[in-house]
Amino acid sequence: MTDAGKGEFDLIRRHFAARRTADARVLLGIGDDCALLAAPEAGQVLAVSSDMLVEGRHFFAGTDPASVGHKTLAVNLSDLAAMGAEPLGFTLSIALPVVDDDWLRAFCDGLFALAARARCPLVGGDTTRGPLCLSVTVFGQVPAAQAFRRSGARVGDDLWVSGPLGGAALAVARRAAGSPVPADAARCLDWPEPRLALARALRGLAKAAIDISDGLAGDLTHVLVASGCSGARIERARVPLAPALGGAAPVAPSHAEAPADAGASAGPAPDADDAIRFALDGGDDYELLFAADPADRETVAALRPEGTPAPVRIGTVSGDLGILLVGSDGATRRWQPNGFDHFR
Ligand code: ADP
Ligand code: MG
Repeated sequence: MTDAGKGEFDLIRRHFAARRTADARVLLGIGDDCALLAAPEAGQVLAVSSDMLVEGRHFFAGTDPASVGHKTLAVNLSDLAAMGAEPLGFTLSIALPVVDDDWLRAFCDGLFALAARARCPLVGGDTTRGPLCLSVTVFGQVPAAQAFRRSGARVGDDLWVSGPLGGAALAVARRAAGSPVPADAARCLDWPEPRLALARALRGLAKAAIDISDGLAGDLTHVLVASGCSGARIERARVPLAPALGGAAPVAPSHAEAPADAGASAGPAPDADDAIRFALDGGDDYELLFAADPADRETVAALRPEGTPAPVRIGTVSGDLGILLVGSDGATRRWQPNGFDHFR
């Protein structure tokens, strides 16, 4: 135990241990050296993923702490969804510059609301002083043969996305410039919704999947490379744009509150070229991109689990070299992915 023990343990008890939800699969939760979780059910394998959010890099300083709490877990649950896995629990490692109880309370409001909805209990973690940094490791389970690997796509497969794209990137651009952010774009950035229900419904249908964290074109490239495929054709008119980019209003109800810097007077929507650039290269949307057999087209199109938007078919895996954007006149143009890279 360190000198800071009392304060640290008090913080863990008040903010984390006190608010976790009971879950039959957690035999022992916060408070011992390890949590004890029931092993995955028969026929299922454990799916494990970690994702870290650093202030000033993954979110702007001063971001609503409730949305930081939500997003810290949401981006991890999104990785489970991208494998077709369902959540079992998560750990939270957190570095805090100071103990700010108001900030922590709001952070936990966002975090635990999503944890309860996703049936994903907090089972442990680590707490230390340092520049604001949140790291979650999430555990899930999936039938081994049904996990959506990036490597399962084949030429001729349909390519689908789970919802509108580009809203989060627009919000980043506007916020970085100090301009007002349209409310729905801010929601895409601050309150991404992990597509867990759709992922479950896609078991046995999706042949490969990835969650779009670094931009559609870049993440599609990851799938193509892993699958040993050379290219894809994306129909420009089919790419679903976030409402702030001129796309249709979302079908799915949103649970998010309007952020403080959002408003109706958020300036003109970007033109069509900027909109497609945000949609193809903008990261942080956390929609799923998946490949499926064209024979399953109608089944996939009809999936509508728990109020999620309808999956949208955007193109096909092809024998072309690279990603071709196909215009409504049939003209093609090669799209060089320009997604986000922390070290570029
Ligand atoms: P150890 O000394 O064994 O590493 P700690 O003193 O770091 O344990 O943590 C004490 C208990 O509190 C452990 O059960 C740990 O999982 C839990 N814990 C610490 N930080 C967090 C956190 N941020 N969220 C959830 N549980 C936490
Ligand atoms: Mg220990």
